Amino acid sequence: MMKILVTPTSFCKEAKELLEKFADEIIYNPYNRPLHPEEILSLLEGVDGYIAGLDYITAEVIEKAPATLKVVSRYGAGYDRVDIAAASGKGILVTNTPGVNSQAVADLALGLMLSAARRVPALDRKIRNNEWPRSTGVELYKKTLGIIGLGEIGKGVAVRAKGFSMDILAYDPYADKTYLEANGIKEASLEAIFEQADVITLHVPLNEQTRNMINGEAIEKMKQGVILVNTSRGGLIDEQAAYEALKSGKLGGLGLDAFEKEPPGESPLFELDNVVVTPHSGAHTKEAVNNMGVMSVQNLMDVLSGKECKYIINRK
Ligand code: NAD
Repeated sequence: MMKILVTPTSFCKEAKELLEKFADEIIYNPYNRPLHPEEILSLLEGVDGYIAGLDYITAEVIEKAPATLKVVSRYGAGYDRVDIAAASGKGILVTNTPGVNSQAVADLALGLMLSAARRVPALDRKIRNNEWPRSTGVELYKKTLGIIGLGEIGKGVAVRAKGFSMDILAYDPYADKTYLEANGIKEASLEAIFEQADVITLHVPLNEQTRNMINGEAIEKMKQGVILVNTSRGGLIDEQAAYEALKSGKLGGLGLDAFEKEPPGESPLFELDNVVVTPHSGAHTKEAVNNMGVMSVQNLMDVLSGKECKYIINRK
């Protein structure tokens, strides 16, 4: 008897069909949003495997999880909301689906840059309100782009930005030098990016080194009118400091797909025309949803049937 909990809010038909052939019972997310600890626990009874969306899988969840639970299969690349140490301590394997959503997120990062540079959503809202607004934006063409974190998504953004003839600076302590050289990307310190970039985009994981990396002090060092984009995780940017910098004109635009709290509820940021927001939907393309769905099911089935799985984060 195999019981599986599935919580991603986008889960494709192909993944469902694959899972249905394997599982005896499947519980789907009844809330249609990321789950909080008590909600997860209420659904975990007797569960062997858990395909996890962006739920908060804290140490408490892991501690109270039933002994039947063997695997948490993250649907996506990031695993900052899973307490990995607690999972390892309890012998629960955690897997993820790296790489398969990077093109989708890179597309959205460019979309947010362009939308913030030209205030597209605000113009759209005003026309719908029977106005005919005028707004002077800025161009991306030949501007300097600072990429913080040059992994799968950062590289995807770099490739796209070349189409805009942007000068590309990247900060990543683990960056592949050969890749940088072969692609005409200049390696830069964080300070150099803050000082020189017209657009800054974040593609690092959220961890103790990166938490709050864009705070008031960092913003102070940036160019006047810089456009900032975060498609990684809330917690990288101090939203209050960003709000103040947008009000003062230090930040020229802000594009966010991730928030300190999700859903964010009300925020003063939403009153500003140069703020563009999407609901953590960077990976929501047909292609990525298909790939993440099938891969997360495959990872879960591999672990539960004792097969080799390449994507275990906390291998025993
Ligand atoms: P990745 O692992 O391929 O790349 C992350 C890069 O960050 C690596 O090259 C790593 O060396 C670098 N890095 C780590 N610590 C750093 C630091 N302190 N400073 C600078 N660079 C550092 O991951 P990816 O697939 O490119 O994803 C990046 C992040 O994007 C994920 O961690 C996740 O949080 C986020 N993400 C968001 C969505 C979304 O829906 N918006 C979807 C997928 C991933």
